[in-house]
Amino acid sequence: MPDRYAVIGHPIAHSQSPLIHRLFAEATGQALVYEAIDGGAQEGGFAQALAAFRAAGGRGVNVTLPFKLEALAAADVASDDARVAGAANALRFDRGRVEAQNFDGTGLVRDIEVNLGLPLKGRRVLLLGAGGATRGAVLPMARAGAACIAIANRTADKAGALARELAPHLAGVPLAGVGLDALAGAGAFDVVINATSASLTGAAPAVPPGAFAPGALAYDMVYGKGLTPFLKLAQAAGARVADGTGMLVEQAAEAFAWWRGVRPDTRPVLARLAVPLG
Ligand code: NAP
Repeated sequence: MPDRYAVIGHPIAHSQSPLIHRLFAEATGQALVYEAIDGGAQEGGFAQALAAFRAAGGRGVNVTLPFKLEALAAADVASDDARVAGAANALRFDRGRVEAQNFDGTGLVRDIEVNLGLPLKGRRVLLLGAGGATRGAVLPMARAGAACIAIANRTADKAGALARELAPHLAGVPLAGVGLDALAGAGAFDVVINATSASLTGAAPAVPPGAFAPGALAYDMVYGKGLTPFLKLAQAAGARVADGTGMLVEQAAEAFAWWRGVRPDTRPVLARLAVPLG
């Protein structure tokens, strides 16, 4: 019997995770099956789905919106990245214990450094948005050696509160939290990451052209949408652009390696999923 894994979310039909993990399993010769489970909108849906999957012999799950907080709460032990983010996106069931990880930020860092060839050491990083995606990105960015990190959000108070919460975990890497409107005159950044959900509604966060340093990388965490309004705005300001397909594939590879002890080659999977950016 092949080992069983799954992704739990709601909605889940759109998830690329079953395809990504099937391709990893084929390429590495791992005997596993990976399914998508809808945790539903009802209270307790995630806990029920998780318990049923474990009882049926499941070995681990990925967790996506809106259950990443509940996933951390369900764990007996959690990695630093998951605890600092306050959310988990991967669980492993080990001798009756649930272990939690959050690989979103590591996936993002690997995509930028390995696939896009931009070492983060010494770079000024701007994260747009103060939701779950930014929470997961800050600690891995600091660990990669960013010179400083700024969080800018439409709702300024949320950015300030998040920066105060995360700063003690960053071993001295400067972290600021401001409103988007404070970016004008706040200097230029080498890496500007759209971690808002604006692209999902065809909008762009209001970021001034001066926020992009010469040769900056503009990265939209959204994937499969082509050249989003944020990426168009960034391109017009002279930035190099990338979307979040590589982050998705790299976080999946981290989970696969954690579960199976084998690191898959992400390049063929990334090439298969990538949507051209204009
Ligand atoms: P979230 O927790 O709901 O946070 C959404 C953020 O977007 C908030 O800071 C919100 O600002 C901001 N926002 C929404 N619409 C905006 C607009 N029109 N202009 C400016 N700001 C706007 O979402 P999340 O979980 O952090 O996810 C953010 C994005 O990252 C999503 O698009 C998701 O698909 C993507 N993501 C990708 C990956 C990947 O593997 N590639 C992984 C995780 C997430 P306010 O606080 O002012 O409301």
